[in-house]
Amino acid sequence: MTTPLDAASLILISRDRRDVLWAQRNPAISFLGGYHSFSGGKLEPDDSRCDVRNEHDAEMRGLKACAVRETFEEIGVLLVRNGEKLTKGQFPLLHDDLVSGREPFSKILEHWGLWIDGRDLEYAGCWTTPEFSPVRFKTRFFISTVPEKQEPYAAIGELRNIEFVEPSAAVRRWSSSEVLVAPPVLFSVRALNEFANPSISVAKSSQKLRAHSARMDGKIHHIELNSRLSCIPLRTKTLPPATHTNCFIVGSRRFVVIDPASREVSEQEKLFGLVDDLVGKGGVCDAIIVSHLHRDHFGGESVLKAYLRSRHEMEVPVVAHPLTVESLKGETEFHGTVGEGDTYKLKDSEGLPFGLEVLHTPGHARGHLSFFDPEFGFLLTMDNVLSHGSVLIDPPEGNMEDYLASLRRMRELEGLRSLCGSHGTAVSDAKAKIDEYIEHRLERERQVAKALESGARSAEEIAGRIYTDLDPGLMPLAVRSVAAHLERLEQTSSDRSAAG
Ligand SMILES: [Zn+2]
Repeated sequence: MTTPLDAASLILISRDRRDVLWAQRNPAISFLGGYHSFSGGKLEPDDSRCDVRNEHDAEMRGLKACAVRETFEEIGVLLVRNGEKLTKGQFPLLHDDLVSGREPFSKILEHWGLWIDGRDLEYAGCWTTPEFSPVRFKTRFFISTVPEKQEPYAAIGELRNIEFVEPSAAVRRWSSSEVLVAPPVLFSVRALNEFANPSISVAKSSQKLRAHSARMDGKIHHIELNSRLSCIPLRTKTLPPATHTNCFIVGSRRFVVIDPASREVSEQEKLFGLVDDLVGKGGVCDAIIVSHLHRDHFGGESVLKAYLRSRHEMEVPVVAHPLTVESLKGETEFHGTVGEGDTYKLKDSEGLPFGLEVLHTPGHARGHLSFFDPEFGFLLTMDNVLSHGSVLIDPPEGNMEDYLASLRRMRELEGLRSLCGSHGTAVSDAKAKIDEYIEHRLERERQVAKALESGARSAEEIAGRIYTDLDPGLMPLAVRSVAAHLERLEQTSSDRSAAG
């Protein structure tokens, strides 16, 4: 578990107090890239040296300076006193000094006679990134309104699509899966929505947010990816660098649970808590699904089944693809199969029906399943595509030709927008991510072919030439991956000669 780093974030309200500012984090950022969020970032040593007045708490002074600095860096809005005397041409100069690192923020403020008024930033609670995340922050949120005569813009590459949005519209866009929103940001826009009639009450919202975070911080174990899809990362014995496997709950009044794999009681209890909530609101579980045969994808399904029976008198089948059921005979008990062409008829929290399509997507494993919500364009790629790193194709269970075909097929799904795999976070631009995966494999294949041409014979020899800076402990996996490429090269060349 990593120690959370101190950070600050600023919720900016438009001057007419109708809208809140949010923006999309650059998809290339490793922490929640592609997600919508507010401006913010981690605390720097210089922040405590900034001139912050009317704030008696020293720690808060640094954090408020951090929120002001990050906001200026990312969206060009400078929340300081005396700023009105700056000309339009001077803002870019200050900004350039800051982002280029020529001068620390405290010095820039001092140089231009500027200071931060602590009363301009209302404290709105603290959220800590859950343990499952490899990067963690303890973020203090503040609320403020945009100063006169300043307009936000994408000042650096970190945030894009900056916009003011009515809180109700923000919630709606998250709900229908148009955007991905980090949990604290989602809580914030929901709270703002509650106190946005006819305009946003900063005082009431910040009070509500403070109370909410005091009650909930550290107790959130899942991410609501949209109004009918939750991701619950649970600790499993998976392949490094991953430490958790994402369990998914799709639907509410009728729902399915995919890959409740963790064998650890404390992890299973997190899932039970969420299931209890759903059942308490009238939810019925239709199935517990195992996506494929790997050890980090099963192991908790029978426990969940037993829990649903004893606690809620619900008899729920555990299902998987026929090939997975066959492979796991004796390891876990199944009550049915599911595969290509099947659709789960589920219901959201309001009882509205929607379908979850089951796709058979072999390549990583022969019986590998993916799941698609065509209305929202959301694809659960499971182990086929992850937010970070690549996927192991280990023959004979793994097959590179099948894998590439599965990737291409998923890429062409009509209405595809976002995806989430079994490890890591969701990805807002699914097509770009799948393209990256396909390109990465083809590039590896070219390298393998080249190594063959230059005389390398065994998979070991080829892997040694291609993976030059790999952790030696991972070399056996790289050898398996090369073997998969060799198999495909052989397959395609024999296909070609047969055709010729
Ligand atoms: Zn797997």
